[in-house]
Amino acid sequence: MVSAVVVKMGCVFCDIISGKIRSYGLYSDEYVVAILDINPANPGHCLVISKKHYTNILDAPPELLAHMIIVAKKLSVALVEVLKADGINIIITNNRAAGQTVMHLHIHVIPRFIGDGIRFKFRPKNSRKMN
Ligand code: 5GP
Ligand code: ZN
Repeated sequence: MVSAVVVKMGCVFCDIISGKIRSYGLYSDEYVVAILDINPANPGHCLVISKKHYTNILDAPPELLAHMIIVAKKLSVALVEVLKADGINIIITNNRAAGQTVMHLHIHVIPRFIGDGIRFKFRPKNSRKMN
């Protein structure tokens, strides 16, 4: 995997990675950092962010994505252990139509607790009657 750090001017996550903007770091390696989300859906909501600037999974190399999901899994196990979370949502938004607001590749790791009131369920648009 090529590890050159490429930053994009005006990108908030590039500024976090370069240290220009402060964040609460949970994990770091050659390719990614994991930080707490500034506006968490639940306690422990964190983001796995690529060190190199990619927009999202559409332009990112597959081996980087594989590494990121492994890191997300490690964080998930730790969050279940430490926060006694009942579940975890892993979410990746790709482009504005899919809800992406920061255009730098990241994975949301969101601890879930029974009765926490968060709803991610979608209603099928073309639900067909089965009979
Ligand atoms: P998206 O909407 O692109 O899927 O997710 C972007 C996430 O980045 C949001 O959950 C938002 O709260 C978080 N975020 C945006 N700016 C900052 C920041 O400056 N610091 C941190 N820690 N999180 C941020
Ligand atoms: Zn960036």
